[in-house]
Order: sequence, then C-alpha cells, then structure tokens
Amino acid sequence: MKFQKNETVVVEISDIGNDGEGIGKVDGFTLFVKDTVVGDTVEARILKSKKNYAYARLEKVVAPSPFRVEAKCACHRQCGGCQLQVLSYEKQLEFKQKKIRDSLIRIGGFEPDDIDRCMESIMGMEEPFRYRNKAQYPVGTDKNGKIVTGFYAGRTHNIIPNTDCQLGVPENQEILDCIVQYMRQNHVSAYDEAAGTGLVRHILIRKGFASGEIMVCLVINKKMSDVSGCGAEGTWLPKQELLLRKLARIKGMTSVSVSVNTEKTNVIMGTEIHTLWGKDTISDTIRVRDMTRSGGLFEWPGEPITGQEYPFTGRGLTFQISPLSFYQVNPVQTEKLYSLALEYANLTGRETVWDLYCGIGTISLFLAGSARKVYGVEIVPQAIEDARENAVRNGIGNAEFFVGKAEEVLAEFYERNSGKERPDVIVVDPPRKGCDGACLEAMLRAEPERIVYVSCDPATLARDLRILCDGGYEVRRIRGADMFGMTVHVEVACCLQRKDS
Ligand code: SAH
Repeated sequence: MKFQKNETVVVEISDIGNDGEGIGKVDGFTLFVKDTVVGDTVEARILKSKKNYAYARLEKVVAPSPFRVEAKCACHRQCGGCQLQVLSYEKQLEFKQKKIRDSLIRIGGFEPDDIDRCMESIMGMEEPFRYRNKAQYPVGTDKNGKIVTGFYAGRTHNIIPNTDCQLGVPENQEILDCIVQYMRQNHVSAYDEAAGTGLVRHILIRKGFASGEIMVCLVINKKMSDVSGCGAEGTWLPKQELLLRKLARIKGMTSVSVSVNTEKTNVIMGTEIHTLWGKDTISDTIRVRDMTRSGGLFEWPGEPITGQEYPFTGRGLTFQISPLSFYQVNPVQTEKLYSLALEYANLTGRETVWDLYCGIGTISLFLAGSARKVYGVEIVPQAIEDARENAVRNGIGNAEFFVGKAEEVLAEFYERNSGKERPDVIVVDPPRKGCDGACLEAMLRAEPERIVYVSCDPATLARDLRILCDGGYEVRRIRGADMFGMTVHVEVACCLQRKDS
C-alpha cells in the first residue's frame, strides 16, 4: 500500500473512468478521484487504499483543466446524478464516443479498424440542460421532521432538498413546491422507508414538450381497501381537493393521479393507477427527419444544424402516454435517434418488421409508415394499451401489438407460423441489461435481413452484438446519440446485416 487513509496527494488527472471519475497516476500508482476533470491538477485525500490503486476525494483544484467548466447546480457533487457537469460539453461527447468504441472492442471483441470503418460521430445536443421531460422526486423528512423533496445523496437514501434539477423543466419546481406546501399545511405524512409507514413516497412529473401537457402522479403507500370511493371519487389523500385545486391552476396541467405502492421496495411506481383529476394520459408529438436527404444531420463536432434549415419530413406522430409507460426522456434527441433508426431499417414498404421492447409503440408506428406490417412486443400491459390507442389515433392500420416478453412472443409466433411470414427487419430497444439470451436466439432463428439495435448501454450492446455477429450478422453502421447530457450515459444505434444476403 503506497498511501495511508486521509493522506493528501497532489495528482494530475489524465483520464476519465466509466463512471465519470477522474483517473490520475502517481509513480505508476492509480488514483480514482470523483469530481475531477481530465487535465486538472488536484489535491486529493485518500479514502480507501488498495495494493495498486486508491480512491480519493477532491480537496482542492490546484490548477484547473482547460476542459473544466463552472457547475450550474450547487448540489452536483452530493447528488451524483450529473457525473460530468464540470466537464465541457464537447469533452463529454468525446468521452461518450470513446466509451462506445472501447466497449465494442473490449467487451465485444471487435477489431478497432472495423469499428472505425462503420462508426459515425455522436449526435450531440444543442442545449444540454433542461432536456428531461420526466422527473421522479422522492419525498421524505429532514432531521427536524420537516417534509422535503429533492434527490438522494450519492448512493444513500438521504434526501437533499432541491426542487430545481437543471436537467428538468422549470415547471417541476412550481409543482413540487405546491405539493410540499400542501403536505406541510395539511399534515400529510411522507413515507418512511425504514418503518414502512407514512403516505407519500415519490412524485412523478412528465411534460409533453410538443403539447405542453403536464402529468403529475403521486406514489402513495395506501391500499385500495383503506380508501373510500374509487378513482376520481376516491379520497386517497387528506383534503385532496385542496391539492387538486392548486395543481389545476398550473399551466399545462392535464392529468393528476396516484399510484399505489405499499411494498418495501426500491421500485418507484406501483402497478395500480387512479386518476384524481383530468385525463388518464398526456400526449406528445415526435417528428422524424429524413436523414438521407439532409446529408446526415447533427454532425458532431461541427456546427449544429437547426430544424429550419432542414425541415422535418412532416411525418409527425402523436402519442398518448400513461404514468406507467416508458417514454424517451429527451424528446429533442429522440427525434434524431428515431430518424437514425429508421434510416438504418431502410424500408421500402414491402417489409415485415418486428419492434421488440416497443414501449408505447413509438418506433413501431414510424416503421409502419414505410413497411407492409409491423409487430410490436412489450412487457408492460399499460404501454401496449397506449400503443394500440396510438395506432388508431394516428390512423395506422398495419401495426399489431403483443403484451409479453420479447424472447417468448417472437419465438412462439414463428413456431406457430412455421416460418411462413419471415421478418425482414427486427428492431430491438431493450433496457440497460440488454437482450435476453433467448431473445437473441429467437432473432437469429428468424433470420431477418437486417437488425437495428438501439441501446442505452454500450456494454450490453457489445455483448449482444458479439452473439449476433457469431450467428451470421455483420455490423454495418454504429452511431451514438447523447440523450443524457451531463451524465455518463449514452444511447447507441447500430445496423446489422445478414452476411449471406
Ligand atoms: N422502444 C421504446 C421503448 C424502449 S425502453 C421507445 O423508444 O420508447 C425498453 C422497453 O422494454 C420498456 O418499455 C420496458 O417496459 C420493455 N421491456 C423490458 N423487458 C422486456 C421484455 N423482456 N420483453 C419485452 N419488453 C420488455
């Protein structure tokens, strides 16, 4: 062990780790220092020392890196949600481009030259703050028993009060302040995780950026049997009409609901939703662009190209979104990502396409515009209800949706149909853990010409691409999209082609 706990060291930060932490070397010994930036020289205090490496805490920036920028949020160090907030946005994009490339090489075992041949530059954001359309705030009490909402500090469940996360919309603050004030004035209790008592657990807020519609859902620890009346008639919260009246006055407010979650769990939402005011859903519109016509939009690095110069193709679709349904959190970047996925799918109007992990059918319905038939598969029943509604609402008759596990539905369909209606293209957009092994197997058995893989985790993407490539596919194109500015997360789309086709 080179260093003792609490010892301070001066170190130059030379690299960024996967979780955004700075990495520096002192005589060959590696230090991981959170909140530092490549190019900084810092004074750091050793927290935990191992044989070849140590974790240290930033004490003082001795000489700031040229890539260091002023933090927008005073809480960014405690919160840990914005791991990259003090790194310049250009450098963030460079980090993400490298993260994708490194995963494909290290985890996927792909040749660097092959990756460089098919990887395009990441699509960056024009405005990397205030981009999220969804916020989930925990509710609790501070040391003095006062109701607070904010975010969990680091890896703990202690709530740091803050109602204005810089990644979210400004309306969040007004809504949260309104709910906290109502709770304090009417002695509405906050959930106590340790004891499993108290009422309000979380507040979910979603805003349709195109529609301006806002949804608020309070996650509460209360059983249906403890409630008099049902739905809008039910009294789920003490003096709930006071809260509803206040929320209804906020511009754009469209839906207020409660979600019942009485389990001792880290899962935020419960499966039951009761609308207390307004509609059950909000709507939003997504437009895709013709990437081929505009010659590849949103190149990075370089000047961002604005919507005016390259108009949308007019293929805007409107979606309804329930509290429990997945909906992409960054609508501006979603339009770029979907445009790219559609370009990768390269449809002519004759194809049968599967959209696995389809959520509310967003990608499916865009695909349906240029395919013969689209099948969507999704595990959350409410999302499939939304998807079917969305097809009707947009006048799309050639999309069919199934509730179920991607790996099961696809395999069963082809067993029943004995391979008659083969898919030409399969699109997958799984959660972070990637595709289930059985799903990849079913995809390989179905032998589509092309696979478009949309991923929010380069590590599981790399793992799955290896399996698909060993099964007869070839990676043709890869491109990142920054959907999560200030964080270490990155979205990637990838186009695979069957080798013998
Ligand atoms: N393509 C959609 C949703 C992507 S998020 C969009 O762009 O909006 C991933 C989705 O996969 C979520 O809606 C999640 O509920 C769903 N999901 C998770 N595991 C699944 C599984 N095993 N089978 C099918 N869907 C699953």
